[in-house]
Amino acid sequence: MTPFAKKAALTALFVVLSGSLLGCTDIKFSAIPPEQGLSAPAETASANTNSSPHTGVAATPKPAATPATHASTATPAPSVSPTPPPQEKPDPKATATPAGTPKPAASASASKPAATPATGDRTPFSWYYMKKKTGQVPDFPKETKSFTADQKAVWVGTGKKVYLTIDAGGPLIEVDLMLKSLKDNGVKANFFISGNNILKNPDYLKRLVADGHFIANHTMTHKDFNTLSDEQIKKEITDFEAMYKKITGKEVEKYFRFPYGSYNMHNLSLVSEMGYTSVFWSTAMRDWEPRKNGAEDPYNDIMNNLHDGNIILMHQGSKENMEALDRICKEIKKKGYEFALVNELQPHK
Ligand SMILES: [Zn+2]
Repeated sequence: MTPFAKKAALTALFVVLSGSLLGCTDIKFSAIPPEQGLSAPAETASANTNSSPHTGVAATPKPAATPATHASTATPAPSVSPTPPPQEKPDPKATATPAGTPKPAASASASKPAATPATGDRTPFSWYYMKKKTGQVPDFPKETKSFTADQKAVWVGTGKKVYLTIDAGGPLIEVDLMLKSLKDNGVKANFFISGNNILKNPDYLKRLVADGHFIANHTMTHKDFNTLSDEQIKKEITDFEAMYKKITGKEVEKYFRFPYGSYNMHNLSLVSEMGYTSVFWSTAMRDWEPRKNGAEDPYNDIMNNLHDGNIILMHQGSKENMEALDRICKEIKKKGYEFALVNELQPHK
């Protein structure tokens, strides 16, 4: 491997890891054991895999599993390492999770008949992307090629637009600094907030709305949807809707993000049937843990992967993110990009 190829491979690995672990770090920062929520109904009996949410989420041993894979050659991904996800899947968890097999369906049916209109494969996936050179749009998981029109989803846009999405499924910190940075730069961001956070701090939502930011549904309790029944999923979403309406007097726009980027084809359809477009991302960072170089890290992570239609995911729970936000907004604009809202993105067909 040439040094460059090696670096590209490492980068790809890193990105994959990020994607799988990301979603919301709520846990990382709290003393509470990861997703107590993950002690999902479905798996209960069998293996209490839930242990590490993020990690457990990495239950995507997809390589083989997925059907429509052949088309994957599609995007020219010269620089990127060819085999990103496979090895990525931290084996530890892989083992922990009865991954490989299509068990998700099994476990689900075990606990509940899950009679629903949405049909489809429940093989668990964790969102990821494969970074390329700065300025180039990353490559995306092969499973996206089998997304259908009734699985409304977006993960990257086009043109000189950047979609800043801020995940507030975890701790809410440096809120004043964040709002000031956005306002000073005239930037409207897209917020994916968990209902629990809003219940604890309704003013947070009111301030975002007052400043004109876009608010989307990030579930009520931020659980890994791959561990929930259809009924539980619907409740997570409708509970958020009811709460949003109660506080703002308005209906929340039908944009959604899967906690931890953890999804499956069935759930993608289910959420879509409820009217939602699922929003994934084309830039994410290891921002659930302290950054080695402080605010330099999120700044570099974002600027080094800036590309047309970039959907950036950053967690509000990262102090470094908040400290870097003003500089990030300024630099992105300086590069000629305009900040936009995700509701202008056309779902992939
Ligand atoms: Zn989240």
